[in-house]
Amino acid sequence: MKILVLNCGSSSIKYQLLDLNGEENLLAKGLLERIGINNSELIHKAAGKEKYKIVQDVPDHTVGINLILKVLTSKEYGVIHTVNEIQAVGHRVAHGGEHFKKSTLVDKKVKQGIEECIELAPLHNPANLKGIMSMEKLIPGIPQVAVFDTSFHQTMPAYSYLYGLPYSLYEKYKVRRYGFHGTSHKYVAQKACNILDLDFEKIKIVTCHLGNGASVAAIKNGKSLDTSMGFTPVDGLIMGTRCGSIDPGAILYLAKKEHLNLEGVNKLINKESGMVGISGISSDMRDLEDAAKKGNERAKLALDMFNFRVVKHIGAYSAAMGGIDLIVFTGGIGENSSFVRKEVCSKLGFIGVDFDYDKNEGLRGKDAIITKPDSKTKVMVITTNEELVIARDTYNIVNGKL
Ligand code: ADP
Repeated sequence: MKILVLNCGSSSIKYQLLDLNGEENLLAKGLLERIGINNSELIHKAAGKEKYKIVQDVPDHTVGINLILKVLTSKEYGVIHTVNEIQAVGHRVAHGGEHFKKSTLVDKKVKQGIEECIELAPLHNPANLKGIMSMEKLIPGIPQVAVFDTSFHQTMPAYSYLYGLPYSLYEKYKVRRYGFHGTSHKYVAQKACNILDLDFEKIKIVTCHLGNGASVAAIKNGKSLDTSMGFTPVDGLIMGTRCGSIDPGAILYLAKKEHLNLEGVNKLINKESGMVGISGISSDMRDLEDAAKKGNERAKLALDMFNFRVVKHIGAYSAAMGGIDLIVFTGGIGENSSFVRKEVCSKLGFIGVDFDYDKNEGLRGKDAIITKPDSKTKVMVITTNEELVIARDTYNIVNGKL
């Protein structure tokens, strides 16, 4: 079954065409950027073929998806003859609020539910919805499935997801912790369990999705118990440009001192803070690791802060779950930075991590166990693959298996 996976952002569309037929094959993938700006750029890569780049104006998502379908069916760079070969579409949807506890087939009510969550994810949900509507226009009647970034964390109990605010505000506005990266946390935890022959439903896992956006999750007996991102993805760890957890009182104080309005505060906490704000150099981990090696003190401080906060969360989750059996690293940093993994894991002897410094080195793009064979708590690096999860959920839902 050929499934198109779409991840629509406000000005970009990431896509993959996969064939799930007992085996799971990636046929093509690509990225279209600068939608609605000008000189939009599509980079397309079909399995076994050269990369292909198109630059042309793409005013909206429908035109963008149409362009992607054209490339997928083109003689030279395509992988299918007609769009009718695509049997279903899976969409990454940022926010499912409390409506969506799992992936679901899109119908009128589901679209309405996604629309209702726009208030919670004003940058992402409108684009996700546009992707769904565009697909309806372009291939009428095609089954579409929505896979939510938040749904895996819907198992969090109220004592974990509520903030210490008046309960009436939760009732009125649904202000609570939702968590994000759910698809990735679940995928890497399950994959690590498969590799280690551990029962996902019976153990205590901490997953560290460390990328530009970064979050940690505590997964107990197959269910998300807590996660570091909250009502929005700005909470928790220190990220590329986001501040992570902060005393709300400090925000009030700064808003007053710097005469910031809501937009100013938003820019401060989402774009100017985190690794770039501390280091004054870059939000990119590679730049910071290089700078720190050359003796830049602020880059070193930013790295120390990043690592310290990951360690603190793991420690807190160990207490919250009554121990940890398995820790998994993923995301651009988690998969590639042996430095971050070493700095974090070398502090985790107290929860039974016997870290293997040699195995930790040079792992780019490979799944691996990075603890010694007798380590009480195992640590793994797993390459995440959110598109594959979306394709699998789409396959199972369309075939009535989920
Ligand atoms: P996003 O949240 O945008 O999906 P990614 O998961 O792609 O982010 O992660 C991007 C981060 O991964 C960047 O900070 C980048 O520096 C980091 N990264 C990628 N490769 C390496 C590497 N070899 N060493 C250290 N960090 C890396």
